[in-house]
Amino acid sequence: MADHRLWAYIDETGDRGIGPRSSPIFGMAAVIADTSGAANLRAAVNQLRADFKVPDGRVMSWKEHTKNHDRRRHAASALATIKGIKVCYVYAQKSALDPTSYVRDIALFYNYVAMKTYTSILWAARNWKGNDCQLWTRFGHVRAHDHRPTKRYLERMARQNPRLPDDIEQGLRWVGAGDYVESQAADLFGGFLKAALWPSGEFDLVEPAYLRTIWPLIRNSDSCAVPLGLMSMPENKIVTTHDWFPCANCPQR
Ligand SMILES: [Zn+2]
Repeated sequence: MADHRLWAYIDETGDRGIGPRSSPIFGMAAVIADTSGAANLRAAVNQLRADFKVPDGRVMSWKEHTKNHDRRRHAASALATIKGIKVCYVYAQKSALDPTSYVRDIALFYNYVAMKTYTSILWAARNWKGNDCQLWTRFGHVRAHDHRPTKRYLERMARQNPRLPDDIEQGLRWVGAGDYVESQAADLFGGFLKAALWPSGEFDLVEPAYLRTIWPLIRNSDSCAVPLGLMSMPENKIVTTHDWFPCANCPQR
């Protein structure tokens, strides 16, 4: 019998604040793996851990262990060639959001972005392995965020959309950063998005090179990644306005 099992690992990037010191974006990166993809992903993470000399028992993270361009380029190159994985991104550009919308409440903001991400994952899984696929979704646990209402929210929203193939879900959970090796890859994928969207450093520049390197992993990027593989909010076209955006004749533009 064909193996139609899939696992999704999700990590968030940016914060949910709206003050001047907050991040300009809040988003999530999801990496979806089939059985061989999950093994390839674990091997790649373990190799990166060795390359970056991450001590045993410590979680490798974008923030702690990929602080310079060389490490970030290396991480992107190592992940870009993995077979059997797909990546989905969802993010909100805070400056474009109506301040009275879901951004007004940090729990609601998380839930809203998480549901958009979950929707992308469900469609990606179903389209990849078919209606009889089995999916285990593992969101990264967020400090000081009670995930139990979020789980109920996602399940309720999924039920309300009869088209959504949420019956493939085998175990929607929130897990610690160190519980699964694959979650460390989700953190790095989140970092690639952040680097492309969030100006930083001495000259307030973005660096899209890492996202461009892993672009072929983004769902549907061979035709158009927006919005199935890369969704910006409140509008799909926001991400297409960046000068690095690689979809030359994007219909979303
Ligand atoms: Zn496009």
